[in-house]
Amino acid sequence: MTYPDKPRVLVVDDEPMNVELLQAYLSEDYEVLSAYNGHEALEIIFNDLPDIVLLDVMMPDINGYQVCERIKNSETTQFIPVVLVTALSGREDRLKGIESKADDFLTKPVDRLELKMRVRSLLRIKKLHDNVIQERDQAQNYLDVAAVMMLALDCSQNITLINKRGLEILGCEESEVIGKNLLEQFIPVSARSEMEIHFLNSLNTSGIDSIYYECPIITKNNDERMVNWYSKPLIDESGKVTGVLFSGQDITIRKKAEEKLREQTHAMEASIDGMAIIDEEGIHSYVNASHAHIFGYDNPRELIGKKWDMLYNPSEVGLFKSTILPDFRKKGKWQGELIGRRKDGSTFYQEISLTALDKGLISVVRDISKRKEFESQLNDYAARLKTSNELKDLFTDILRHDLLNPAGVVKGFTDMLLNEENDENKIHKLQLIDSNVTRLIEMIESAAKFAKLEDTEKLEFKSMDIGSILKNVSEELKPQLEAKDITLDMKVSGHYPAVINPLIDGVFTNFISNAIKYGPSESVVTVDVQDLGDEWKVVVSDKGEGIPDKDKVLIFNRFQRLAEKKKAVKGSGLGLAIAKRIVELHGGSIGVEDNPVGKGSSFWATVKKA
Ligand code: ADP
Repeated sequence: MTYPDKPRVLVVDDEPMNVELLQAYLSEDYEVLSAYNGHEALEIIFNDLPDIVLLDVMMPDINGYQVCERIKNSETTQFIPVVLVTALSGREDRLKGIESKADDFLTKPVDRLELKMRVRSLLRIKKLHDNVIQERDQAQNYLDVAAVMMLALDCSQNITLINKRGLEILGCEESEVIGKNLLEQFIPVSARSEMEIHFLNSLNTSGIDSIYYECPIITKNNDERMVNWYSKPLIDESGKVTGVLFSGQDITIRKKAEEKLREQTHAMEASIDGMAIIDEEGIHSYVNASHAHIFGYDNPRELIGKKWDMLYNPSEVGLFKSTILPDFRKKGKWQGELIGRRKDGSTFYQEISLTALDKGLISVVRDISKRKEFESQLNDYAARLKTSNELKDLFTDILRHDLLNPAGVVKGFTDMLLNEENDENKIHKLQLIDSNVTRLIEMIESAAKFAKLEDTEKLEFKSMDIGSILKNVSEELKPQLEAKDITLDMKVSGHYPAVINPLIDGVFTNFISNAIKYGPSESVVTVDVQDLGDEWKVVVSDKGEGIPDKDKVLIFNRFQRLAEKKKAVKGSGLGLAIAKRIVELHGGSIGVEDNPVGKGSSFWATVKKA
């Protein structure tokens, strides 16, 4: 509100003479405006906002009381002092004047001095009042431009004042906030009791220190924002606490960033890889515990603030500067192997990756000395394996040539002697030699065959008829069949073309000869070929004791013979292992089941159709 040089006084009277008189009294000190009826007066008052109004009461149409009431009921003019100037001096009239909220009364005829004094004192009060309003507006401005949210609460936690920033954070209009209970309306349920404690503490503090705490608020959109609050009691002139003033900042983003940073730091701390941040000067600004341990230090503090090159031998530092650094500068990252130096001077292989940062770089280090050790052990082992393979080949050759020959010679001479001998006793002993040497020859042959198959990765295949192979096998086994009076029931007719290697006959020979060996005399052994679509399944079934379930897988292992049969029947325990290897080399499968028709086993193998 600006004050012109002279304050402006509006004189209202329907009698021009009276206006003139007051004008004469006042014009020396004031600018005097005049109006001659109520309408005119109101127009001037609302347009020009005079500093004081001298109002005659008895006017036609709108009287002085009514004009006064209008002035006092309007927000813009309510603080303009109104002096009722009246010829009336009765009690009734005074009361009416008070009711219309007039500030003072003057009785006609007006005394000049009294008039001047009244006007001066009312103008002084108005000026003081204007100053207060100005200061209040100024304060409100300060509150509004403040970057913090400000809220005043009464003792029942109802909001009595809020600044612009507060409204922005809440996303509300002033009318949606004033008079509302802060806790019930804007604080999440989970945080209410804590906020209440702070509110009560603030009410009860001396008011010197603010209380600080963090507590979320809920905005109009139901967003939760984290606010750091300061609160202080509001105290009136009499020293009574009238409420609490809160100020706070929306720290949601800062909180989230802090949380993220904490998580990242935590991940770096917990990492088993060594992590270090090295600044532009080559100095460690951050080192995690693993990094320190990898280099043999107890605590990261031993490295922070120190130069990176203390962790490498000079030769490695030289290599780094001459070849790695230029590459790293170009690409902003580098990955490779280096030799690190521990605190005790020992060295170790490390895998290291470097990534450029805004200022400096981050290095991630992993100790790979163990891996290097394993690698070299593996190389040694591979070399030893090669030697042992060569040895195995040598033994296979020894088996085949050097053992088989003398065994063959023994068998030949034993057969000759058996033919010539008549002495029953000697014949019996020669037969023992003969059967044992036959077994020895069989075992040598099987072992040599198995060793050979172990080495084989690929066989050559061609299309052959399984039916004719099975017939050949049965021909060859005729003597054994006859010896035990066993009938071979070949359910094989027509062609069964398959992609096979001639070695496959070993599988069928093994199945059928086992069926003869382990089946009872005068029984029937069945040979069947089933069509599985892509494959043929050859099944050989006998009427023997069968194989217990727990042994069904075991018997395909090398040298696995079932205890009870060992004594009764001769064998090497290699036959089924060889058969399994041959079938595997054909890409087929092998197995044994209980004979579906009665006692005994059904051995089966599958091969691909041609
Ligand atoms: P071998 O017959 O030379 O001992 P195999 O590898 O051919 O060796 O057989 C392994 C074991 O499986 C045999 O010792 C025997 O215990 C058992 N077996 C094999 N075929 C049969 C069968 N048809 N009936 C009962 N048991 C068998």
